[in-house]
This record gives sequence, C-alpha cells and structure tokens, in this order.
Amino acid sequence: PGNLAGIRHIILVLSGKGGVGKSTISTELALALRHAGKKVGILDVDLCGPSIPRMFGAQGRAVHQCDRGWAPVFLDREQSISLMSVGFLLEKPDEAVVWRGPKKNALIKQFVSDVAWGELDYLVVDTPPGTSDEHMAAIEALRAYQPLGALVVTTPQAVSVGDVRRELTFCRKTGLRVMGVVENMSGFTCPHCTECTSVFSRGGGEELARLAGVPFLGSVPLDPELMRSLEEGHDFIREFPGSPTFTALTSIARKI
Ligand code: ADP
Repeated sequence: PGNLAGIRHIILVLSGKGGVGKSTISTELALALRHAGKKVGILDVDLCGPSIPRMFGAQGRAVHQCDRGWAPVFLDREQSISLMSVGFLLEKPDEAVVWRGPKKNALIKQFVSDVAWGELDYLVVDTPPGTSDEHMAAIEALRAYQPLGALVVTTPQAVSVGDVRRELTFCRKTGLRVMGVVENMSGFTCPHCTECTSVFSRGGGEELARLAGVPFLGSVPLDPELMRSLEEGHDFIREFPGSPTFTALTSIARKI
C-alpha cells in the first residue's frame, strides 16, 4: 500500500541478541543484492543503536522532503541502494535512547508509510536485537504487505543459549514467515594462510535450523577484511570479489 507498493520483497533481519552481526549481514546482503543487479532499500528501525549510516559510509547525510514523503538517502547516482535511518534525522545520535514506546512506535509507523522508496526489488529492514516494541510496531505496520519474511542471524555460540529459539518462537507467534537462518562469524579465515579455523564452533546454526524446520541459508566466516570494510564504510562485495566471505554472502543473497 502507498509508498510500499513498488517493493517486491520485504525482509526483516532479526537476531536473539546484539553483537552477532545483524547489521553487518543486513548491509552485506544489500551490497550483494546490488552486485546481482537488484535495487535495494534499507530501513534501519534500530532507533537506539542505528549503525546503518556508518556501515554504508553515509554519516552526516540528510533526509529530504519530497512530494510523496521523505526521500531516502541514495548511496550512488544510480540510486541502486537507498537508506533510511533515525541516524539521518537526529542531531545528536543518542537522542532516541530516552524515547518512550509511543514515540518510537510513531516514528516506525512513519518510516513504513512516509518513505518514498519508489521501485525496489528488496527492502531489508534492520531491527534492534531481541524482540521489542520496535519489532511489534514494524510488523504491525508491514503486515498488510506481502511477501514479508524474516531472516534470523546467529553466531555458532549464541545458538546454545536459546536466543535464537526465542526469536523463532517470536516469528511463529506473530505469524512471520521465517525465510531462514544465517550463521555469522563461523570459522576464521586466516589472511596469511587462508586456512579456516573454527574459533567458536561450527554447524550450530544449521543444526538449529534443521530442528526448527526452517531453511539454513549459509555461514559467513569471521573475516578481518569484512570488519575493516564496515568500519571504513567501504563496499566489501566490490573490494573482495572471489574471497570465501564474498562467496558465502552472494550465495545467501541468491537464496532470498
Ligand atoms: P549487531 O547488529 O548484531 O549488533 P554488528 O553487525 O554491529 O552486530 O556487528 C558487531 C561487530 O562485529 C561489528 O564491529 C562488526 O564489524 C563485526 N562483525 C560482524 N560480522 C563479522 C564478520 N563476519 N567478520 C568480522 N567481523 C564481523
């Protein structure tokens, strides 16, 4: 409906807890989808910890009004990636930390209805960790829109503590279709010898997906180059084609 009418797929990216790489996977999947010739939007509904502007190297950019609402921040001239985040709206990055639920809900509703995305192949929605008011507001606002799916990001060691299981339960209870589980930081590819070592453990995400009866979409290695690209706001997909991490990310992007 309205500004969402030109969007083909909406993907909510979820994780049981913070720090597992949810924003990283949202960012890299968007870049991998662009690499495959798709038009992608990213909506950052993590109001208290928006990291999307930084990961795309777009800090300090501003959102403008246009005749159909808010114009998102375009990453390039071709407008192949467009971004919307509270990080573009606030003067002080930490302002939203003290906002109460109703104010957060209102902003998320506005994000969903008022951003003029235009035609997109994918809208990737980066959410806060866990399950919160922001999730409920986003799901409520997007529910009328189909196809809506969720992608759950975990690390191998997070799997054992049940965070992911809670996240999958949340999806079931809210009627959100789970597109699959992505295991992040599974194995470390040593830049000196290219050998892959399992720092934590491996296969937990796959096992969990199997038990929960949802698809397993793949594992992304712990990669210092990926971390560096994100810190500098560079496009890893363009800079490291053919690396094991590139292969993992593009393979996941093909499945969604
Ligand atoms: P979340 O969104 O789940 O809180 P982030 O995406 O912000 O997590 O990631 C947390 C930190 O881990 C960031 O510094 C990020 O650069 C790093 N990171 C995430 N995934 C990887 C990876 N596969 N390899 C290396 N560093 C990673």
